[in-house]
Amino acid sequence: MARLLDPAGRKIEYLRLSVVDSCNLRCFYCRPGDSCEPRRARAILDRETLARVVAAAATLGIRKVRLTGGEPLLRPDIVDLTRDIAVIPGIEDLSLTTNGSKLAGLAAPLAAAGLKRVNISLDSLDGKNFSQITRGGRLRATLDGIRAAYSAGLLPVKINMVVMKGINDHEIENFARLTMEKDIHVRFIEYMPMLGQEDPWREHFLPSSEIMARCAALAPLVPVPDTDFHGPARNFRYAGATGRLGFITPVSRHFCRQCNRLRLTSDGKLRPCLFSDVEVDLLPAIKNREDLAPYFYEAVRAKPAASDRSPASRGSELGPRGMVEIGG
Ligand code: SAM
Repeated sequence: MARLLDPAGRKIEYLRLSVVDSCNLRCFYCRPGDSCEPRRARAILDRETLARVVAAAATLGIRKVRLTGGEPLLRPDIVDLTRDIAVIPGIEDLSLTTNGSKLAGLAAPLAAAGLKRVNISLDSLDGKNFSQITRGGRLRATLDGIRAAYSAGLLPVKINMVVMKGINDHEIENFARLTMEKDIHVRFIEYMPMLGQEDPWREHFLPSSEIMARCAALAPLVPVPDTDFHGPARNFRYAGATGRLGFITPVSRHFCRQCNRLRLTSDGKLRPCLFSDVEVDLLPAIKNREDLAPYFYEAVRAKPAASDRSPASRGSELGPRGMVEIGG
């Protein structure tokens, strides 16, 4: 089988699909400056096209797919799309990243359609703080979604918390304690700067080293080996606990050397690196029903060996396109 091997020798096996660019929450750190008005819906790839892209990717060695966005559960056909992708030969792992607000009613149908796991974004366990961070979200809806994910067997349930000094860092210990009591993976993510948002970012950024020190102050952290297709998190657990803690360091320590992923934006561009603006447009080839393999090779050839956005140039980390379009 043809393989996607980039110039730095990395085997590319993981494709993240942004299946929609709109979101029903307005997390201020993700959509800085964005008003609370819903975004103008733009053309997004239809179900058949997405399945075609994944099928092409699978013949090139992609084994892991994650559905993200925007908020993927806003797609009315998300269950059917999941089913289409789950049956593609070669796709061994199909997961989804969601804010959880619509998961309560969808977890069981998604699991039945072949979804294996979910990552749920949850930045606060306090209803008021949650609502402020998400600009209007309801904590209860996301907690119901988490429960439904457990009941549906979408395991392990991973919780992603973006840690921000002065906003939710006082909740680090509460999140860490959850892993002592429950079979849950809490992943602490460093806050990344978005274009034009240098000031709030600088004020609220907390490095992973400090987050980890706070968790280790509760009890010693035991390292857990990586079993997740070279995931970006460094994983630990507390002795005797079933839950895990992960630390993701997009700012203080890029994980470029292990990066095995490509992204597809909601408007059909292959993006080799979250932090580079290079994109390969698949749309013309899709329209002409061309073989997509050469475009995958082109994207993989363009994958930077390491992020060129050094710590000194922080402030434009994600370039002009935000996470909702690129697919966080
Ligand atoms: N709507 C889904 C959700 O909320 O999980 C998927 C899309 S969201 C863009 C994916 C992830 O990106 C979330 O975990 C979110 O917290 C993270 N994210 C967005 N902006 C970020 C930033 N500035 N720094 C760190 N993580 C960010």
